[in-house]
Amino acid sequence: MTIVGAGNAGISLAARLRREGVADVAIVEPRTTHHYRPLLNYVGAGLAPMSAVERATRGLVPEGCTLVEDHVTAVDPGAAGGPTVTTAGGRTLRSTTLVLCPGLDEDWDATPGLAAAYDAGWAASTFVGEAAPRVWPALRDLTAGRVLFTVPPEPAPCGPTALKPLLMACDHWRRRRVLSRLDVTLVLPDASPVAVPEPDRRLEVTLEGYGVRVLRHARVARLGDRAVTVTTPGGTEVVDDLAFAHVVPHYRAPRWIEDAGLAGTTAAGLAAVDPLTLRHPEHRNVWALGDCADLRTRPSGGALRKQVAVLAANITAGPDVADADLEQYDGYTVMPITTDRRRLMLVEIDRSGRPSPSVPFVDLARPRRATWLADRYGLPQTYFRRILRGKV
Ligand SMILES: Cc1cc2nc3c(=O)[nH]c(=O)nc-3n(C[C@H](O)[C@H](O)[C@H](O)COP(=O)(O)OP(=O)(O)OC[C@H]3O[C@@H](n4cnc5c(N)ncnc54)[C@H](O)[C@@H]3O)c2cc1C
Repeated sequence: MTIVGAGNAGISLAARLRREGVADVAIVEPRTTHHYRPLLNYVGAGLAPMSAVERATRGLVPEGCTLVEDHVTAVDPGAAGGPTVTTAGGRTLRSTTLVLCPGLDEDWDATPGLAAAYDAGWAASTFVGEAAPRVWPALRDLTAGRVLFTVPPEPAPCGPTALKPLLMACDHWRRRRVLSRLDVTLVLPDASPVAVPEPDRRLEVTLEGYGVRVLRHARVARLGDRAVTVTTPGGTEVVDDLAFAHVVPHYRAPRWIEDAGLAGTTAAGLAAVDPLTLRHPEHRNVWALGDCADLRTRPSGGALRKQVAVLAANITAGPDVADADLEQYDGYTVMPITTDRRRLMLVEIDRSGRPSPSVPFVDLARPRRATWLADRYGLPQTYFRRILRGKV
């Protein structure tokens, strides 16, 4: 079996399959350093070092799996003898089962001027691993001026968590008594922060309390000269004279998924799979999960915990099991959002957007100190010790 991508999805699936006795698992991954990405938002708030985020990929690959340190450039899902992947290094890997989980690519071309603004240093974001360490030094010492933050449009890796660096920075500025001298704008892709009524109400109160001006149904069109041009339903607005812009890139699936005929109808070229079973509709031995897959729900690491269990069961069920008898993913996903530097709300929903709490009787969507501590300190331990080892 070949798994493309050793991110959250690829490593945890490989580990789960190995625990269930599957032999011959190869993982293709070009990056030598793996990131636990949720912690990047704490790096951007000065509350975690990069060393807590990073681990050597090789050390995380489960025992018995082969790591192919290369970049997939093409897939032939219908090749005789089983699907093949071709790598930048010129290798061709053939397998009986192919799993795609290369995540999303940052689409720098979608936002003219974004790459130049990152290079110039007046823009960055926690969503770009290499840029995350620049965010807190840029925000920490501001005492006046204009700042802009964005939430990326879908698909994005747990997009609403882009509110974390904003809300933790606002809390910091309030504690330093400089918040009223800062002019803070938030660019939201939709009408509300998370599209779930009660958490939205709480977040709107929080944003108003910090004095954040919110542009809704808005997109960043371009950047240049310390100015961000935003399109809104009312027209175009230029936010200029910026001290700093926390602009998250837009995302799309890797182009080779589309080139292989494996994408569905999404503009972002996401891998087409049955959102319940994670199997490709035409190529029965091709599966996809994680951020790259069109699963009709918001991508997140929390969602992967359920997807991995479903996919491992469906792969080990064997090729002859009817689709109707396969395990099904209910679309569960999660959006953990810090409302300040001490408290976090956990918004858990199903595919239809309805609340899907993982713990009964306790409203985790209410900002709490305990959930903040769990997100900052507990989950990273669980991720490296249990999730990536296929134990959760
Ligand atoms: C800043 C940030 C904060 C987040 N916060 C949270 C949070 O609080 N809670 C939560 O649940 N989720 C959060 N997420 C989302 C979560 O990290 C992702 O949903 C999760 O990492 C997706 O896993 P994945 O394996 O699908 O993709 P990734 O983790 O992106 O892994 C994909 C892997 O595939 C590799 N790859 C890419 N292209 C190729 C190729 N051509 N060939 C071979 N390999 C390739 C990549 O190098 C990468 O290692 C956050 C994400 C970010 C960026």
